[in-house]
Amino acid sequence: MNDLNTQITAELSRLGADLVGFGDLTELPPEVRHNMPVGISFGICVPREIVRGIAEAPTLEFWDYYHSGQDDLAQLAEMSAQFLHSLGLTAVPITKENVKFVGPLRSELPLKTLATLAGLGWIGKCALLATERFGTAIWFGGILTDAPLTTSAPITESKCGDCNVCTQRCPGGAASGLLWNAGLDRDDFFDAQKCAAAGRERANAYLGIDYPLCGRCIAVCPRTRRYLEGGE
Ligand code: SF4
Ligand code: SF4
Repeated sequence: MNDLNTQITAELSRLGADLVGFGDLTELPPEVRHNMPVGISFGICVPREIVRGIAEAPTLEFWDYYHSGQDDLAQLAEMSAQFLHSLGLTAVPITKENVKFVGPLRSELPLKTLATLAGLGWIGKCALLATERFGTAIWFGGILTDAPLTTSAPITESKCGDCNVCTQRCPGGAASGLLWNAGLDRDDFFDAQKCAAAGRERANAYLGIDYPLCGRCIAVCPRTRRYLEGGE
């Protein structure tokens, strides 16, 4: 890491990020990355008490956090971009205003892809970003920039191995069980429509909310459970 990496990591951590990484984006088409060569990926972990509640069914606490967590990520992206601007650098926060959707439930530069390029994790069998430290209980945001940053080696292979817990516990049968790698399209191992349909059914049944909300694959992942065991 160079000094600028350290400075940006410190600022993002001060603003609330739990993980920060830097990815080389130059292999991606320029229009997808706003012509920026580097992506800064950052994650905010989902609080343990929220995760513990959703192993069987979605909860109102998770519903509230779902919104506040998204807002926090967007705000963090905006504030971090402003910080880079203050250093005289170009930075584009990846917020909904700057993201193009290229199909149902699919953006042209998914934040999870950015996190793998920044070496922060891999894509689990239920298409969540999986990390060593927080399991799948972490949500990601990002910034695109021209800052002269040192980038990490990307993660290109799954570390799920023969674990199939999320595949087996998914109420929608959304995951095929196939291991992700960087060359595999999400739709080749995960059916996002099935996940959305099951989430909507469960949110309706348990909370009376007509919105796709489930999250069981976050709570049951053995790596998440390790994170849960690590604190109050
Ligand atoms: S959120 Fe629920 S329905 Fe969607 S993949 Fe995870 S466990 Fe399956
Ligand atoms: S539950 Fe197992 S297969 Fe699913 S993301 Fe976690 S480690 Fe991977």
